[in-house]
Amino acid sequence: MQAYCMKCRAKKEMKDAKSITMKNGRPATQGVCPTCGTKMITILMSTPCQGGMAFHLPVRVIGYAPL
Ligand SMILES: [Zn+2]
Repeated sequence: MQAYCMKCRAKKEMKDAKSITMKNGRPATQGVCPTCGTKMITILMSTPCQGGMAFHLPVRVIGYAPL
């Protein structure tokens, strides 16, 4: 699982990645940057359907959460 490290300002392979559920009920993957040890979180979201299509595109929202 790759995530963007805000400290390194680069995409890194997340270390110790684990699936979590955030307080708002959304699934996310949490891990640490292998280079600097900054905590990374990748939030898995679904975009709203457009035009009534019966599928959701998974969109990866990458950010940093000071946990
Ligand atoms: Zn880093």
